[in-house]
Amino acid sequence: MTTISFADLKLAPEILNALTESGYTTPTPVQAQAIPLVLEGSDLMAGAQTGTGKTAAFALPLLQKLLPHASSSTSPARHPVRALILVPTRELAIQVEESVKAYAKHTKLRSLVVFGGVDIRTQTPTLKRGVEILVATPGRLLDHVEMKSVQLNQVQMLVLDEADRMLDMGFMPDLKRILALLPKQRQNLMFSATFSGEIKKLSAEFLTRPKLIEVARSNATAENVTQKVYLVEQADKHVLLAQLLRGSDASQVLVFTKTKLTASRLAKQLQKEGVAADAIHGDKTQLERIKALDAFKSGAVTVLIGTDVAARGLDIDQLPMVINYEIPSAPEDYVHRIGRTGRAGAFGKAISLVSPEEEKYLNEIEKLIKKEIPKEKADVPHASRNSGRSERAPREHQGHAPRGDRSDRGRSPRGDHAERSHARPAAPKKPSHDPWFDKPYEPSTTAPIPKQPEQHPVAKTRKPVAALFQRKSTTEKA
Ligand code: AMP
Repeated sequence: MTTISFADLKLAPEILNALTESGYTTPTPVQAQAIPLVLEGSDLMAGAQTGTGKTAAFALPLLQKLLPHASSSTSPARHPVRALILVPTRELAIQVEESVKAYAKHTKLRSLVVFGGVDIRTQTPTLKRGVEILVATPGRLLDHVEMKSVQLNQVQMLVLDEADRMLDMGFMPDLKRILALLPKQRQNLMFSATFSGEIKKLSAEFLTRPKLIEVARSNATAENVTQKVYLVEQADKHVLLAQLLRGSDASQVLVFTKTKLTASRLAKQLQKEGVAADAIHGDKTQLERIKALDAFKSGAVTVLIGTDVAARGLDIDQLPMVINYEIPSAPEDYVHRIGRTGRAGAFGKAISLVSPEEEKYLNEIEKLIKKEIPKEKADVPHASRNSGRSERAPREHQGHAPRGDRSDRGRSPRGDHAERSHARPAAPKKPSHDPWFDKPYEPSTTAPIPKQPEQHPVAKTRKPVAALFQRKSTTEKA
């Protein structure tokens, strides 16, 4: 197959310049397939997980199609919302809008991101000044509609990003409300990492004769990610994790646990052993969490431990390794987790520590990805099991754990459950509230991150890392 360039995709010079400045040379497979289809006006159902370059796959043609509407007028009437990008979480919302802004930097098109959990009044003035591209979580968008700070009657392009997550998080009622506010004549693009029956139903409902593209087979995991399972007793997992970290030359490792408690305990234990580890979860202060993210971004922390929600949406270029300390009970979460590594063609490693109790979940995962993951029985020296015992999973992790930590359902300042009072999951599965996810990410501008007294070998070979988030908080922008 001959390699195509962005210029071959007939993108406008102002967009091409922005791409060059972003350091992109060639389109990723999803971009090469999606861009021409979007430009010709088709609806799209794209099976692409995070890390494939899916954001640019919809953002670039979207910008190109809106270029004729770019205007330097200050009149809000000249800047109606023409493209609406709906995403499930605030973290993803921030990232998507940052990408849109970067690609649109040489155009007069305006973009904005709105999400729940922050004072709505900080978003209203910018919204009222007019933006062509609005990135939003569903509930907050409806809040703005109710407050009449936005009109959606000129939307000509709709993007549903991470549609599977949206369904997962119970956003269907909100989506339907939003859809009802949009002009019937519009182009719809749907991106989803997984292709469940529900997603197919959603696509049948929202899309018109969609073109289907799949960059990886349905529910397949990235080809460039090497997967491996270690069969290990729960009590031995900590020792094995320490061994794996010691033996790895990975510059950064993201470790997934099922609960905040395990994340926290594990981080403390690893710190004691001299590993530059930290946890991100809602039981920490805002400042501590900001520091953990900043430190991982800068490389001062080499092992970041978190739950599915905590790590969702983190955009880390060249993240070489993901370790599932506990495998998720929902197999789709496995696909999302390992999608954190091996992004945009880079190579990655995904290791899962699986206890006998978890083998049933492993079977489900293998069924979903239609692949058998190579397995090895872990060889944990008996003498080193002392510390391992104390790391036995807390009681609440054993048996059927809730499907991830669902606390990132956006919340509005006036609501105490789903982003809006009507955004309830179809089948609530033990939500656990984690107020951190109600807050936007605000990188610390205060004290520098304290270095760990002793750096673990995994820190030795640091590689460049892309920004997790931009330095400016969204509330500042708004
Ligand atoms: P996404 O799947 O949209 O989250 O993108 C994953 C990562 O790939 C992001 O960090 C992008 O900046 C990067 N990326 C997207 N498109 C390209 C490209 N054509 N070449 C190199 N990197 C890219």
